[in-house]
Amino acid sequence: MENIENKNLWYPYAQMKTRKEDFLVKGANGVYLDIYHTEKKENKKLIDAVSSWWCAAHGYNNKEMNEAIKNQIDNFSHVMLGGLTHEMAQNAAKKIVEITKDELNHVFFSDSGSVGVEVALKMAIQYYKNKGYMNKNKFISLTHSYHGDTFKTMEIGDDPDYHFAFKELFRDCYHIDAPKGLEASDDEIRSCINELEIILKEKSKEVAAFIVEPLIQAAGGFNFYSYKYLNEAKKICDKYDVLFIFDEVATGFGRTGKMFAMDYCDFTPDIVVLGKALTGGYIGHAATVATTKVFKAFYSDDSEKAFMHGPTFMGNPLACSAMLKSIELYEKNDYLSKIQNIEKIMKENLIKIKSDKIKNIRVFGATGVVEVKNSKDLKGLQEFAYEKGVWIRPFLNYAYIMPPYVIKEEELLKIIEVLKEWFQ
Ligand SMILES: *Cc1c(COP(=O)(O)O)cnc(C)c1O
Repeated sequence: MENIENKNLWYPYAQMKTRKEDFLVKGANGVYLDIYHTEKKENKKLIDAVSSWWCAAHGYNNKEMNEAIKNQIDNFSHVMLGGLTHEMAQNAAKKIVEITKDELNHVFFSDSGSVGVEVALKMAIQYYKNKGYMNKNKFISLTHSYHGDTFKTMEIGDDPDYHFAFKELFRDCYHIDAPKGLEASDDEIRSCINELEIILKEKSKEVAAFIVEPLIQAAGGFNFYSYKYLNEAKKICDKYDVLFIFDEVATGFGRTGKMFAMDYCDFTPDIVVLGKALTGGYIGHAATVATTKVFKAFYSDDSEKAFMHGPTFMGNPLACSAMLKSIELYEKNDYLSKIQNIEKIMKENLIKIKSDKIKNIRVFGATGVVEVKNSKDLKGLQEFAYEKGVWIRPFLNYAYIMPPYVIKEEELLKIIEVLKEWFQ
């Protein structure tokens, strides 16, 4: 008889009856995970192809990151931002403002990407309330978008594979299609823009914001699409007085080849959410960054116009020390050229994998995706890759590579080789 009382740790997105606990991490260094396989009773070093859900930008156990956080621990590891302040949070906010586009001047910290998106949504609704619009409470988002797992982020997200158990509760969001793929024609882009305009023509009095994962829709199925769509969408948002929010939790810090996806666009989004690689993947934290236009609606002698949100751990000094050091490493070690190189290697090699099972292979920045026709064709890939020394975690129809940026050419080629062998 199974003793289910012993299943103390409840894992994410997992059927606990079938989920195994055999990949035990004993340590991690650079791009390598030191795994003890509890069933096979063996130690193995695996190259991490997915950066722990695309957050571990510097790989693991980075000496400079460790040092920065240790120094802060020896000073103080946490205080509330209610009533108090500290230089780590002040400096981290200043640094984020410095590296993001003009007009994004105001940083609200929170503890995870989902909460950072919630903050952006609340900000958008209250922005309009503070300006006297009482009915602008709804949102528009893209089909196949993923914005997090908390209630409102599930609602604006659109992934039937993740959140079906709750879907009766989702009412206040309109979903529209993003252009399919970077190769979408101008006509296809125009038709997606029309979809946005048709809704706004009728509903703009109820809509607070249009929210997107810019350029790369990650967890919802790795659709890559053009900045041209975003440039046109911004014009429509402005025409109908609706805020435009960029969820850059996945795309921020280099994943698309530029520091931020917004850097491809002609405009500055009204609100931008950063997370995941924000702390170099060291500690959960998010930043919701607003333009002065948005901030102004809260800035008042009227205390009721204050923004009513405040997670316990917002601006955590350890997280802020990780952010500051992480951003310093990006700048000092020219990460954007590393990312270009990752893109080049994937474009030259990943694309070449051939198999009838494959529907499409695409690369954008430091993100490579093999999409198969049938999700069954990825069953067993994780174990296959383990045997060859690679950690990859496919989901649905996608085997994706989002490596730490410090990966060496031969390590990246090895990941690609393993995928190639799998499809042979
Ligand atoms: C991961 C992710 C989130 C959620 O972040 P958490 O830290 O897991 O809450 C939100 N938006 C996007 C685009 C993401 O990739």
